[in-house]
Amino acid sequence: MIAKRGEELWQARAACRGPHAGIFFPPSHIERKEERLTRERTAKAICHSCPVEDECLEYAVRIREAHGIWGGRNETERKQIIDRLPASPGLRMHA
Ligand code: SF4
Repeated sequence: MIAKRGEELWQARAACRGPHAGIFFPPSHIERKEERLTRERTAKAICHSCPVEDECLEYAVRIREAHGIWGGRNETERKQIIDRLPASPGLRMHA
């Protein structure tokens, strides 16, 4: 997601920087299932063309980010990755 001063350097190369960044998170109003699926599909397509997709996914899993699309995965998909991780830290993942 959008880099701020002091955050991870890879974020400066994120494909989601800019006006379309909002599609990576649910809107403030109630979102119907079909709307969510379309939004997530669009966001994931951007992720799959992003030069830092692996770094983004590793970061989101490492910090246990609870919301949004990161590294081409939604919350449920990241939770499945986390559930499969061994107890020891430092495992590198690839999308
Ligand atoms: S992988 Fe997706 S969410 Fe992560 S930096 Fe790239 S475009 Fe943004």
